[in-house]
Amino acid sequence: MAWTPDVKGLIQPFTALKSSVEQPYTLNYPVEKRQDVTGYRGFHVNSLALCVGCGNCQEICMNEAIDMVEATGEINPKNASGLVPRIDYGRCCWCGLCTDVCGPDSLRMEGDYTYVSADADSFLYMPKDR
Ligand code: SF4
Ligand code: SF4
Repeated sequence: MAWTPDVKGLIQPFTALKSSVEQPYTLNYPVEKRQDVTGYRGFHVNSLALCVGCGNCQEICMNEAIDMVEATGEINPKNASGLVPRIDYGRCCWCGLCTDVCGPDSLRMEGDYTYVSADADSFLYMPKDR
């Protein structure tokens, strides 16, 4: 049987050498952060000046991840119920339906997405007012 050289095997080490001088494809997190992407579904934010407390967001949420709770900050004078949404990130699947049905566009999802806690109760998240 004739001997055939393993050309691919001979070239392989040089391919690895080439990779060692290439720019990395990963980020040096947390020193470097990923750039925001328009339309990214990160944490919820809710502008209290716009929210009318209608509860549409709670109604549409199929995961029952939204509770309407008393607002702590200054709210929209048109918010008759005085309630604003709080999100349970233990249940939320980030579908974005709650933001779609929000008439005044007060409830939105933005670029923040990093959260670490060993306390399960802290997953009940009050969207930032902005
Ligand atoms: S966030 Fe939007 S949908 Fe939810 S209660 Fe406020 S106004 Fe209504
Ligand atoms: S993103 Fe979806 S699952 Fe999460 S709170 Fe809104 S409607 Fe519910």
